[in-house]
Amino acid sequence: MFDFETLYSEGHEEVVFFSDPSCNLKAIVAIHDTTLGPALGGTRMWPYASMDEAVTDVLRLSKGMTYKNAVSGLNLGGGKAVIIGDPQKDKSEALFRSYGKFIESLNGRYITAEDVNIGVEDIEHMFTETNYVTGVSQTHGGSGNPSPYTARGVFRGIEASCTQVFGERSVKDKVVALQGAGSVGRYLGELLYKSGAKVFFTDINKKNIELFKEMVPNAELVGVDDIYDVDCDIYAPCALGATVNDNTIERLKCKIVAGAANNQLAEKRHGDILKEKGVLYAPDYLINAGGVMNVSIEFEGWSDTKATRMVDTIYDTTMKIFQISEEQNIPVYKATDVLAESRLTSIKNIQGKYLGSNQAKNHRFPGRKTLAEQ
Ligand code: NAD
Repeated sequence: MFDFETLYSEGHEEVVFFSDPSCNLKAIVAIHDTTLGPALGGTRMWPYASMDEAVTDVLRLSKGMTYKNAVSGLNLGGGKAVIIGDPQKDKSEALFRSYGKFIESLNGRYITAEDVNIGVEDIEHMFTETNYVTGVSQTHGGSGNPSPYTARGVFRGIEASCTQVFGERSVKDKVVALQGAGSVGRYLGELLYKSGAKVFFTDINKKNIELFKEMVPNAELVGVDDIYDVDCDIYAPCALGATVNDNTIERLKCKIVAGAANNQLAEKRHGDILKEKGVLYAPDYLINAGGVMNVSIEFEGWSDTKATRMVDTIYDTTMKIFQISEEQNIPVYKATDVLAESRLTSIKNIQGKYLGSNQAKNHRFPGRKTLAEQ
């Protein structure tokens, strides 16, 4: 059950419930930490079975965004939102515009974006009512599809892992087992292929398998469950979370786990086991941060050059995390938290907390008006 003790212990600053019966809107926004700037994180639409489930999810996800934005070097805090509903049945223009009005009422303390079951069309409806939204279409001054940038960041994380394990950055002649040939997976596959790696892949979706083969001509398809047994250098999970678990961990033959999926370790102890087995685990929430980096610069005017430059910093940050992991003899997942927390603490010490609208105003998109104002 949701209570203030949970908020105290997890460090959340603000949780807001929005309801509008006229369009069946039930939304919760959680602002976890605004030390570094306004809270940025996507809105997820999901048919949660209970209110408790929705609250638990939004609290967990918003805290995750604080860490992700902090370790990625963004001047943004962590937040997330959930809309309770069935994306197949409950979506409407009215619902997203009503939600947009509520987001506007937060005066920039929270900035939203796409997440599971929320697409550009939904974002555009929000953008009709509020400026505090990112991931809008390029025709309206946004950054468009984030997946190629996410893939580029994952690729940089893989390169850093190769430097750490093999002593050289190049992926040439490395064998990669890539799980999930979707939006990110296919761009990652292409980058690996163009750099001379050999890719084995799997997916459950025929259309995505065909698209992948077009972009990665020498890729070899393997069975959905066989991906864990591929004799490879790198296992790249780009489909679901929790695929490093009790059933798979002994089967993995790789030296590196590095992919786009969120929360790849089923439990933290699997990160300890990987370390004991001598398998390097790349920090998942850092190396998949290319997408959030890409949308974050919509504030200042997006360009491909800026986005690319920013995403490429993932290589150096990943190397820094490996160094902390070695120096402190802790697993990579802990070292990633150490780096995020040390940035949060140091910035808290110099400037105190971000308190509201002034800083948010600096993040308004310059010269950009809501769709309704245009
Ligand atoms: P997507 O839905 O486009 O692709 C996922 C692919 O995985 C699909 O092709 C799907 O068929 C496949 N898949 C599902 N279950 C599978 C299974 N059991 N075995 C093999 N394949 C399976 O999603 P995406 O946008 O490419 O994101 C991939 C992962 O990266 C997700 O975990 C997502 O949360 C994470 N991520 C994505 C972004 C982004 O910019 N898109 C950013 C950060 C993190």
